[in-house]
Amino acid sequence: MTTYVQVAVNLATLPELYDYHVPAELEGKIQPGSLVVVPFGRQVLQGVVWRYVSTPQVSETRPIGALLDPHPVLTAAQRQLAEWLAEHYLVPLPVCIALMIPPGLSRQADTLLSLRAEVLPPLETLSPIQRRLVDLLKERGALRGAQIDAHIKGVDWRPAARRMTARGWLTAQPILPAPTVAPRRERLITLAIPPAQIDAHRAQLGRAGSAALERRLTLLKVLASQREPIAPAWLFTEAGGGTTTDLNFLEERGLIRSLVGEVIRDPLERMDIPPLSEAPQLTREQQTVWDEVQTALRRVQDGQSVPPHILYGITGSGKTEIYLRAVEETLKMGKQALILVPEISLTPQMVQRFAARFPGQVGVIHSKLSQGERYDTWRRARAGQLPIIVGARSALFTPFPALGLIVVDEFHDESFYQDEIPPAYHAVEAALMLARLSNSLILLGSATPDVSLMERARRSAWRILHLPERILAHRQAVQKQLERLGKTALLKTGEGESAHLGLPPVQVVDMRQELKAGNRSIFSHALESALEEVLEKQEQAILFLNRRGSATHVFCRECGFTLRCPRCEVPLVYHADAAALICHTCGYSRKMPTACPQCSSRAIRQVGLGTERVEAEVKARFPHARVLRWDAETTRQKGTHELLLRHFSHHEADILIGTQMIAKGLDLPLVTLVGVILADIGLTLPDYRAAERGFQLLTQVAGRAGRSPLGGRVILQTYMPEHYAIQTASRHDYEAFLERELRERRRLGYPPFVRLARLELRHADPAHAREEARRMANQIHAWIEQSGSTIEMSGPTPCFFARRAGLYRWQIILRGAEPRALLRGKPLGDWQVQIDPPSLL
Ligand code: ADP
Ligand code: ZN
Ligand code: ZN
Repeated sequence: MTTYVQVAVNLATLPELYDYHVPAELEGKIQPGSLVVVPFGRQVLQGVVWRYVSTPQVSETRPIGALLDPHPVLTAAQRQLAEWLAEHYLVPLPVCIALMIPPGLSRQADTLLSLRAEVLPPLETLSPIQRRLVDLLKERGALRGAQIDAHIKGVDWRPAARRMTARGWLTAQPILPAPTVAPRRERLITLAIPPAQIDAHRAQLGRAGSAALERRLTLLKVLASQREPIAPAWLFTEAGGGTTTDLNFLEERGLIRSLVGEVIRDPLERMDIPPLSEAPQLTREQQTVWDEVQTALRRVQDGQSVPPHILYGITGSGKTEIYLRAVEETLKMGKQALILVPEISLTPQMVQRFAARFPGQVGVIHSKLSQGERYDTWRRARAGQLPIIVGARSALFTPFPALGLIVVDEFHDESFYQDEIPPAYHAVEAALMLARLSNSLILLGSATPDVSLMERARRSAWRILHLPERILAHRQAVQKQLERLGKTALLKTGEGESAHLGLPPVQVVDMRQELKAGNRSIFSHALESALEEVLEKQEQAILFLNRRGSATHVFCRECGFTLRCPRCEVPLVYHADAAALICHTCGYSRKMPTACPQCSSRAIRQVGLGTERVEAEVKARFPHARVLRWDAETTRQKGTHELLLRHFSHHEADILIGTQMIAKGLDLPLVTLVGVILADIGLTLPDYRAAERGFQLLTQVAGRAGRSPLGGRVILQTYMPEHYAIQTASRHDYEAFLERELRERRRLGYPPFVRLARLELRHADPAHAREEARRMANQIHAWIEQSGSTIEMSGPTPCFFARRAGLYRWQIILRGAEPRALLRGKPLGDWQVQIDPPSLL
């Protein structure tokens, strides 16, 4: 009997599944999740077998062409997740599948073009682009589309090629390039004689007393100490020398043996892994939380479903320790664990802690891995050889034989929302779905849980666990640090091995008052004298400046008044070219006023402040201070994050000026002051999550200050000290912020009380972009009318970041109960849809 299957064909524009039959030679080898090659029209394409079907929907099915990997590339839970992503984010299924197949393994179909010189008309009769194609194919022979793209840049040569093919001047043959990744095989070396005999062979190894003899002897001894065959590079490193010639020499004499084996490409090899670290005894609060988590894991093991658990606890309250326990318990159950972190380059400590607790069992996945590293990690995870995967959002798509736990650390972080390339998706939402599909426990950890998700957690009876107290590492470690620094501490000691520390005091400085008192500098008196004090005591300070949204919002330096849209209440944005203020949500615009509408002062202007300026002012005021600047410019080179941090943590600088918050978990015991130059900056961005983002950032900044056993304090400079985000952050009062923010969102009609969809268009031609934006807005308007929908549309408007990478950006925003329903199945052309975007910038 013939087996029929449905296949998701890897062509980004195909939303459907297609029926095929399994040919005799592949019978028994094909199953749902298999990566295959199939004929499709005149093409040959890659695809993933989706499911068996008893009767195909077409009378004549074609056979599957080949099986590309003996094991399925997608698990059942992943196939369901792909379907959910497609449905939820309005993208074709193949686009979602592509997320889950390692780059290099997944291939797009291509066309091989070759010239039929014998029938070619005279060159003068061809168009310039046709002539370029002819020249290229004459010179290089047959080429694939992707190869031609590399030669003819910036011009769409395809229409010309199609016309030439139609006339018979070119032949076009569909092809599927072979995968570019494969397991890496390498020469491995092992000892061919019993270790005890090495010395007996000494005389054979070279001239007596020669360096070569000693070197070869060392190589043999190193090999004797290895339990398994090792790679030559490794051997040379261990032996402190050696060459391939040495290896050939030893092999010819039968002393060593080479074999070819698979080498695993493991990004963790480049990382310093601290020695195995034992689990500390939990504090009372941790124990309470752990009891609940453990119970939940046991229920998962029994096949019961458990709600998501939110772990709300400030930085340093011991959340990671809970994750580590949960992972340990999950492994004991014979299952795997996935740990998602916002950005791996900023959290190397996180990876190190997992690798130290579970040596040899942790894999990392993030976008900076090589194709080979990614492929190997992916295959080992699929085989169950790496039961723990730590990674950025793309790690979510790792195949696990039996997932039991998903941890999302810092789950409020916006980098979990991906909107650079389709599909735009929220990794936290996808993780919640994956947990449901795979019946895993999901733990969402944060010091400032996402407002919308907290509201959902309350409504849907998720568990919310709280760790209120900050643990300042192990008491012993702290003690040692202090001794090294020759300082005495202000420590409260907690139970067991832990030491506790209160939250740092936060001083809010009203910059309007500074101005009134005649201080026009960017430093308040409070901050200036605090800096002086720090330098005197030879401690360290961090000055923080929010990188986003500088030089755009307009406010009064006398009274702090910010100009807002009368319709949306979001701050207006200054556009120098038009000397106008524009609302980026609804399009409202007005002239730049010459005086403050509130107090008539003429000191109304846009703010603009960069890190260079801060650096210059620090140097002018404190010429002897050693200053480090940490921003996009100074960290552009790879690896400089770590380098800058290392400098600073070794006290090779006194003041760090930064636009990014310092890596989590890094101990900076000498930092006793954090100054926020202008706390307002992010708060005035025209976006519904501006206050939340501001609160998160200020909380994180404040948390950074309180991690020194020497104590610490925070100074927030602001022109709007009464803003609730600043008020609540300065009191470390998340609950108060949450209540107020939810009230505001309800009042203004923003998530979680409505749903948003944002359509974004990017185009190189500003006139075309504007035209197309108008056309689309009219079209959507018509759809709303036709369907009698209650969805509200605003726009089209240019995005806040109106140009990115040379492209003009326009947006249309839909809000209502279910904006997705309006768009489903509609032709959206080049518009990208974002469902529930965390930002409307
Ligand atoms: P978070 O993940 O909330 O930032 P961590 O788990 O990193 O918190 O804990 C902060 C510090 O306290 C770490 O250095 C950690 O090793 C230490 N720590 C956590 N729990 C304990 C404990 N029960 N006893 C001693 N030290 C602990
Ligand atoms: Zn508006
Ligand atoms: Zn004013």
